[in-house]
Amino acid sequence: MESLSNRKKVVSNKKMTFMEKMYFPAILGGMWITLKHVFKKHNTVKYPEVKREFAPVYRGQHVLKRDEEGRENCTACGLCAVACPAEAITMTSEERKKGEEHLYREEKYATTYEINMLRCIFCGLCEEACPKEAIFLTDRIVPTYFERNDFIYGKDKLVEPVDQRVDISKRQLTGKRPA
Ligand code: SF4
Ligand code: SF4
Repeated sequence: MESLSNRKKVVSNKKMTFMEKMYFPAILGGMWITLKHVFKKHNTVKYPEVKREFAPVYRGQHVLKRDEEGRENCTACGLCAVACPAEAITMTSEERKKGEEHLYREEKYATTYEINMLRCIFCGLCEEACPKEAIFLTDRIVPTYFERNDFIYGKDKLVEPVDQRVDISKRQLTGKRPA
């Protein structure tokens, strides 16, 4: 029967000639192809010595932002987790206690917030879904690890340090936060 792709090849059982048995033409052909590529412009760079610039729209490791006063923006509403197509986000929440106003911007906050970087496809839907401008994807690379558990990023890795703000302006300028 004729194949649909029409790429079928009939295998030949004909005896190899002396030259074919020597593999010379094939070896020379292969060497010629290699030689041609030596003088061509390289498509690769010598990473990590040389690093390529990312596109402005590159989406890397997430950050949970703080406001100007250093309080966590996230109110643990869960909308990012609902929007996530990879089901990579989990969290638990608590009511803010008296005296914690300087830590959390609103009455509710995330006690735990985890993103499984092995599940994440860096689509950015969590960022789009967040009504509090709390989560953003940055241009930082998620490093590689040997253990699967190391890819579960908790608040220790996600929340922006007070004294070391993470610049997100490269790919997104934040608008005004709703009052
Ligand atoms: S970037 Fe996409 S896949 Fe990753 S956590 Fe956000 S919504 Fe989920
Ligand atoms: S990051 Fe944004 S969407 Fe996700 S729980 Fe926090 S406030 Fe809600």
